[in-house]
Amino acid sequence: MRNGPAPASKASLKFRMKTKVPLNGQARAEHGQRSESQRLLQTKVEGNQFDVNSQEFKSSVSRATLLASKNGLINYDELPLPWRINIYIRTGYRFTHSIFSTALSPLCLSNELVNIWTHLIPVFLILRYPLHLNPPFETFRDGGLGRQTDAFVAITYCATAALSLVCSTAWHTFRCSSRLRVMAAFVCVDIMSVSLILTAFNILVIHTLFYARSRLREIYIFSSLLWCLAGVVLPWTNLFRPVEIAPLVVHAAKNWPLSRGWNRVIFFCGLGGQGQVIPALHSAYVNGWAYTSAIYVHAIPVVLPIFLGSLLYGSKFPERVWPGRFDYIGCSHNMWHVATAISALAGCWGMLGMFEVAWGRSA
Ligand SMILES: [Zn+2]
Repeated sequence: MRNGPAPASKASLKFRMKTKVPLNGQARAEHGQRSESQRLLQTKVEGNQFDVNSQEFKSSVSRATLLASKNGLINYDELPLPWRINIYIRTGYRFTHSIFSTALSPLCLSNELVNIWTHLIPVFLILRYPLHLNPPFETFRDGGLGRQTDAFVAITYCATAALSLVCSTAWHTFRCSSRLRVMAAFVCVDIMSVSLILTAFNILVIHTLFYARSRLREIYIFSSLLWCLAGVVLPWTNLFRPVEIAPLVVHAAKNWPLSRGWNRVIFFCGLGGQGQVIPALHSAYVNGWAYTSAIYVHAIPVVLPIFLGSLLYGSKFPERVWPGRFDYIGCSHNMWHVATAISALAGCWGMLGMFEVAWGRSA
């Protein structure tokens, strides 16, 4: 028989260390030096559970809808739990009941205004680019070796980049819908679009890296398409989304040992690894470093903004340090959007350079 107080479990100790949350309210009062961001994190940890069928949940949705219809915008703490995503963005939330008012909400001031327009404006710039090349299909086909596949790969990249930005815009528009199923479906659309744009870029790089090696090109493109298929399906399942709001529940996933966050990280690392890292090393081996690096020089403006943007996105800087001060403009998600828009545009503008390297090698 054990005497004295029971020791804290390994899991709870690990959790406390990871989140740096004080043990209780008394400790908070004693130390009293915690920052605002730590206090908010504690609130999030304490209120992280929800049951979509409970009366409490339904009341919280009704309350938020009423407040939003009265005041226009509501605060983070007034949102029902599934709508709370970034605790450091404190004000400026829309919460709409009708689909019509949700669809029109990008025209109103809110904390999503910058997120929406930083992805919507680049859609027009991307569409303008291939239309500016007159006509785009023939530019890529006749600019090189007369291959229709070149034009197909180039136009597909532009179209996918535009589609991906449209999906993101749709998510940021509809994330305020008070209908949980609608909001949850658009989260899936947003995550799915990341797989689409990454795959389009993988295929562009693979196509030019192995331009003169059709067998290797086909194998890598087929592999990328399989990863893309998984990336289109997984966001709709409880492997990527909380089981309470996942449109597709995979029962076998309930005993899955990894968290949803880790599932997504591992999946996207795999998508990038098989579509970029392995083909680059393989190309350096079979085509030589000079050729491979000449292709990747044009890929750097695409990859670098994504890398820098994802650091900001993951760190939630600057709103983590100054909660509430970057609600409308300047938060990490705004900068992530600018970075991804630059990356998509850089891909459209830079791919001709990648093709020219490939054409020069094969001429
Ligand atoms: Zn976004």
